[in-house]
Amino acid sequence: MDKIPNKTCSKCGAHWIEGQLYWSTGAKGTDLDLAGLVCNSISDEDPTVGECINASRGQVGGTTWEYRRGYIDGVMEQAMKPKQ
Ligand SMILES: [Zn+2]
Repeated sequence: MDKIPNKTCSKCGAHWIEGQLYWSTGAKGTDLDLAGLVCNSISDEDPTVGECINASRGQVGGTTWEYRRGYIDGVMEQAMKPKQ
């Protein structure tokens, strides 16, 4: 088996180690998560959009901000509830 070279996306700061995506924070993720959260929000007008090396950029299906927003809204709602 050939070793998959490590690579870093200069656009989103994510890096791949032997094919596994790690966020700039060091957390593990998937290419689709990265695409949904970061890479898809890069405008095609952005002259540096080509620097994004995520193969899944443009695809949907990972964790999205919409999903996170919903999750966070739910948590906030719970936290903001007045104590009975
Ligand atoms: Zn990227």
